[in-house]
Parts: sequence; C-alpha cells; structure tokens
Amino acid sequence: MRAEIIAVGTELLLGQTVNTNATYLSQGLAELGIDVYFQTVVGDNAGRIRQAIELARTRADVVLFTGGLGPTQDDLTKDALADYLNLSLTEHGPSMKKIEEMAAKRGIPLIESNRRQANMIEGCTPLENEAGLAVGNALTVDGTHYVLLPGPPREMRPMFDGPAKAWLRTVSGEDRRLYSRTLKFAGIGESALEHQLIGLIDGQSDPTIAPYAKEGEVAIRLSTKALSEREAAGRLDETEAQIRSLVGEHLYAAEDIPLEEAVIRLLRSEGLKLASAESVTGGLLTQLITNIPGSSGEFLGGFVTYTNHMKHRLLGIPMAQLEGEGAPGAISESTAALMAERTLEITGGDYGVALTGVAGPAESEGKPVGLVYIGLAVRGGETEVYTAQLNGNRGMIRLRAAKSALYRLWLALKDRK
Ligand code: AMP
Ligand code: MG
Repeated sequence: MRAEIIAVGTELLLGQTVNTNATYLSQGLAELGIDVYFQTVVGDNAGRIRQAIELARTRADVVLFTGGLGPTQDDLTKDALADYLNLSLTEHGPSMKKIEEMAAKRGIPLIESNRRQANMIEGCTPLENEAGLAVGNALTVDGTHYVLLPGPPREMRPMFDGPAKAWLRTVSGEDRRLYSRTLKFAGIGESALEHQLIGLIDGQSDPTIAPYAKEGEVAIRLSTKALSEREAAGRLDETEAQIRSLVGEHLYAAEDIPLEEAVIRLLRSEGLKLASAESVTGGLLTQLITNIPGSSGEFLGGFVTYTNHMKHRLLGIPMAQLEGEGAPGAISESTAALMAERTLEITGGDYGVALTGVAGPAESEGKPVGLVYIGLAVRGGETEVYTAQLNGNRGMIRLRAAKSALYRLWLALKDRK
C-alpha cells in the first residue's frame, strides 16, 4: 500500500508551524509497512484542498490528512472531503455529548462553531480524540482509504497510534511491519562509506541499506518488513555481518547512540578514567561527553585553555613552547602532546585527550583553517598525536574535531580489549 500525507494549514505554508506531524506519520506508517510516496502541504482553502485530494487519490491507496478539524471557519478538511466524495456530514453523537459536557463543566455557553468538531463524514468510522474535541474520521471510498486526524500534535499522536493504526491494519491486511536497525560509524565520511559498500547496496533490496549523515556522524539504517522481530533479526544480522566484513573498523555501534556514549561504555567496562584539555573546541568535547548520563563515573573533568596564558597557567605548558622566536606554537603536534600529558598528570586519569587547532574563519599562527591536532596520552604508554585537516564552517570544524578525538579514543580503547 502506498500512502500520501496531506497536512492542512496555512500556518504550515507560512512557515509559522513546523510540519512535525508529517514526520511522525511517516515514521508510524513505515512501521505499519505502508510506504509513504508523497507528503503534501496545503493551506486552509477549500478549492486547493480539493485539488490536493484529486491528485492524492490518483497516486495513493491511503490518504492521511492532518489539520483542519477544528471549530473555526478555516477548518475545512471534513467539508472538503465530504464535498469531493459527494457525501454528507453527520453528527457523531458521543463527540457532541463531550463538547456539550465540556462547555457545561467550564460554565461557558456553547459556541455554535464548536459543534462542527463532532462532524463526521457519512458512513465513516469515527476515531476517538482522547486529548481534544475534534473527532477523527476513517473511511474507504472506491478503494481509497481516507484518514482524517486533527492538527495539534498532542491530539494527533494518540489518535494515530491508537484507533487510526488499528483501522489501517484492518484495511491493509498487512501483518508484516517494518523493523529497522541503525549502524553507527566513525572516522569515515558518508560518501566514502557508501563507496565501500556500493556493491552491497546496489545488489540488494531486502533489508534496504540507507546511509545518512547527521551531527558530525554517519549512520546506516537497515530496514526489513517481517512478521516478527525474530524473523527481522535474522535478516538484519546477516546484512550487518556483511557490512562489518567490509567496514568493521569504523562501525562503533549497532544501535543509534552517539560516539561519546560508545567511548564512555568502553571506559566503563575497562574501569578507566578520562580527562580532557581543549583549545580549538572550547569545551565542546567535554560537553558531548557529559551529555551522557552517568559519565561522571568515567570522566574526571576538562580544561578549557583558550589562550596561551591559560595553557601555561592551568596546564603548566612553558611559554617558550607556545610563543616567541622558534617556538613550536600553540597549534602544533608537540603542544597537543604536552596538553594531553599534563592533563593526565594533573587529574590522575588513565587517558588524557587534548585538542588544539584552527576553527576559522581566519588562519592562525600561519596554520590553515581546519588543521587540528589531537593529543592522546595514556597512563604508562606512549603519547600519540593525530593530525586532521577538517572541512566545513567554524561550527562544523569544531564538532568534527571533537568527534575525531572521540574516534581516536574509541580505537585506542577497542584495541585494548
Ligand atoms: P487544526 O486542526 O488545523 O486546528 O490545528 C491546530 C494547530 O495544530 C495549529 O495551530 C498548529 O499549531 C498545530 N498543527 C497543525 N498542523 C500541524 C502539523 N502538520 N504539524 C505540527 N503541528 C500542526
Ligand atoms: Mg488549522
């Protein structure tokens, strides 16, 4: 079955309201095994709603509306669909009773327009609104299934998840649902990852393999339709194993967790402590790590040493290292190493990670924008320094720098196991 979502509301077209309902419904329909081919947005205008219906029924088996079920004159979805289908509007008794009771309870006179929320298209299945007054509608006409849901997300979501999904399951006769697994990758870009897997991606349609990138991380979503979780797991395991054999050294989790969480979990399982010193990222690495609940068990703390003075004062890096004739400078391999080592000594941790570099927009110390040094000191081991040349604007460079440091930590911890 193919579905189209029609979000109704001029506020959506004006950009005043984000169309979060479409996102929610697309996800929910995917789980039902119903493919969404189109998402439409139309204003509160009867003629244009009608045009949207006419088009949708040529290309979808299920047309889901959200919005326009309210009491005001611009709420037209039920009127427009009834008109299009040549059906009349009738009153849903229980909803009208609810509306009357609500008015009585509040001690306010019942405004006539409020009654419109009890309207239902003749012959439809009413969908109960547990969080509001507008009743939803579901009906099948000439083989097309129509579902009408309210606009406010707090009303739409329970109606969709409850009565609307139950109705859709019955009419679709689809017993399978969609199961997905997210694989997360570090130290590799989206296009490089896709390139390495292109043979696999092109050669198979079930499970589907969809790479995507967000917030400085790369992920692959594997999806398959199955009757049970077990049936799905068998197929997902097989594809995951194939992917691992090709790019396993970059795969840090088979669930949707950020890299910092994978790092914290490894530190935890080994009973190790981490501390940080940041220049270029200004505390971002520390923020990412401390976003993870319970990270205080593994993370001791971080220094934000933005100026040379503070690198000297807080970390004890000699000024002669940082500036002056012949000095390596703050943005250098040796400063990254010293920052990491001093962090380790001062905090008494097992790993000290340090970042220094150029976030831009202008170069610094004659070093190019995006050049970042990552120092990694380990108790009783050799300090390593990694050099990265990162792309993007200031924000992206900082995020990528923090993620690169986490990737180095993850590799070091994984090798230790
Ligand atoms: P309505 O059912 O058209 O009266 O919707 C009322 C309110 O629901 C609007 O003012 C919006 O704040 C919200 N709303 C409507 N459509 C959407 C949508 N597609 N996504 C998120 N919120 C919405
Ligand atoms: Mg509206």
